[in-house]
Amino acid sequence: MAHELPALPYDFAALEPHISADIMRLHHDKHHATYVDNLNKALEKHADLQSKSPEDLVRDLQSVPEDIRTAVRNNGGGHVNHSMFWQIMAPKAGGEPTGAIADAIKNSFGGFEDFKKLFNDGGTKQFGSGWVWLVGGGAGGKLEVVSTPNQDNPLTNGQHPIMGNDVWEHAYYLQYQNRRAEYLQAWWNVVNWEEVNKRFAALSVK
Ligand code: MN
Repeated sequence: MAHELPALPYDFAALEPHISADIMRLHHDKHHATYVDNLNKALEKHADLQSKSPEDLVRDLQSVPEDIRTAVRNNGGGHVNHSMFWQIMAPKAGGEPTGAIADAIKNSFGGFEDFKKLFNDGGTKQFGSGWVWLVGGGAGGKLEVVSTPNQDNPLTNGQHPIMGNDVWEHAYYLQYQNRRAEYLQAWWNVVNWEEVNKRFAALSVK
């Protein structure tokens, strides 16, 4: 069974004015679709890997044959990262975190504003393309903010991604041009805390 592009769970324009419909259409229909196509191409000659979930592939990259490891890293990572990304955003969302994740953020960072600053800094300082993440599984059960280059996912580093923001230029350039920090700031208006809580609850290691 080939990997498939998941449908966007809302309209292209649903995240406006924070993320434009043009960005969403290109980002989902072209960028994410290409990661899925290229992942399927990479796996064509490796039937034994085709039943593995994309998360399992990126979690255990070392077991992926060397001839397709980079392709799986980039495109499997791209597929996992974007599948999460559409879900952790929603229209009429944002605001203060709710539920268990709100408590965990407070315990780990002091408060939401401190966490936001750390997360935005991580996204701003990621040189070139990449992602900024909130991950679980740190020492003493603390959450951490990390950034990764390209389409690398924290799963490959033994970390547990709870939420992440895409800081590739394709995620913001049509609307924000070079103003990445402004995009990072606006993004908090579309964070779907309900979904972030679901992902946090599903972590076996917090
Ligand atoms: Mn992207």
